[in-house]
Amino acid sequence: MSLHHGRHYLAIPGPSVMPDEVLAAMHRPAPNIYEGDLVETTATLVRDLKWVARTAHEVAMYAANGHGAWEAALANTVRPGETVLVLASGQFGHGWAEMARRLGIEVELIDFGMTAPADPARLEEALRADRTHVIRAVLCCHVDTSTGILSDTAALAAARDAAGHPALLMMDCIASLAADRFEMDAWGADVMVSGSQKGLMTPPGMAFVWFGPRAAEARARVSPSSYWDWRPRSAPEFYYQHFCGTAPTHHLFALRQALDMLKAEGMEGIWARHDTLARAYWAAVEAWGQGGAMRLNVADPSARSRAVTSVHLPGGEGERLRRWCSETLGVTLGLAIGREPRDDYFRIGHMGHVNAHMALGVVGVIEAGLLALGIPHGAGAGRAAAQVVAEAVSPLRRAAE
Ligand SMILES: *Cc1c(COP(=O)(O)O)cnc(C)c1O
Repeated sequence: MSLHHGRHYLAIPGPSVMPDEVLAAMHRPAPNIYEGDLVETTATLVRDLKWVARTAHEVAMYAANGHGAWEAALANTVRPGETVLVLASGQFGHGWAEMARRLGIEVELIDFGMTAPADPARLEEALRADRTHVIRAVLCCHVDTSTGILSDTAALAAARDAAGHPALLMMDCIASLAADRFEMDAWGADVMVSGSQKGLMTPPGMAFVWFGPRAAEARARVSPSSYWDWRPRSAPEFYYQHFCGTAPTHHLFALRQALDMLKAEGMEGIWARHDTLARAYWAAVEAWGQGGAMRLNVADPSARSRAVTSVHLPGGEGERLRRWCSETLGVTLGLAIGREPRDDYFRIGHMGHVNAHMALGVVGVIEAGLLALGIPHGAGAGRAAAQVVAEAVSPLRRAAE
């Protein structure tokens, strides 16, 4: 007998599950790229991408992945030989730093390890010490996907302002956008980058860079290469400039459909759903941990992402469990990234097109794996997760809202 026939669930932190409506939106012939549907659709994407990011400023689109968004953000704001400060809480922070180095940018790095968010007090201290304002930009992952750590954007911006420092604050929301609350303008981020394949529920291959007025000024100073230049892309004189060449046509139709679905739910609804599902997973892991070694990677709930959860299960059991869930029950969990020993961790992706039965299903699958593999664990995880879901939608709570 096999129990993995049926629809496989890819519960990794991106690419995320794509809605059938998004897949269907791409099923069409090549569109006219001069006028009509594609051109009109693109204008609505620009409008709605700003809505998702909570910004009134600009957005540039690229046919690229998240790494392209990283490079685009740097290419428009920092020249080779200039300096950035990277606040790292995991592998993706280090990855962005490495990309800056390879562009010839000097990198100062504060490493907060793999279990703690960026500390605003440390940022303020570093910026105060930079009396001549050598640091052009502060780079930080809103959520570092390798660790599931969420850093406090508003507090980082406030620390920068308290230090009286002009550095741009550039946030990577590739994992967190449309999962964890993010308010670009209200929180004081100058640049934000994201990609299509996580909270935006669209195939990998599109990158986005949102930028405010201070970042727009920096671009004039650095004069970026024509391909990465965000200005023609964000304010094109003719359609071709949106993508510095042919548009990723079918991605645009997919993204239109995805944004329609996000708009129908509303940002508050999207954040509340992801919050509930994340808390259901946390409750389950905590219950398992009562009778075994399993632990959430991030102890402080306020520093945990609602897009991805990283779990520690020592003795190589994390990877053994992950493999079993994929091969035996058809749920693929995320591999550890940048952890030592790597096999002691796994991650659960819960951004995008996910709902309660998917989360409760994954909890049940993990529990079956723990039982089948003889891994010691506490009881009651399914109950604990169901309780979180039930409370979130109970009439009592609704009445209070
Ligand atoms: C996924 C991710 C990236 C990398 O995106 P790619 O599309 O794989 O290039 C960078 N940063 C964060 C926080 C991510 O989650």
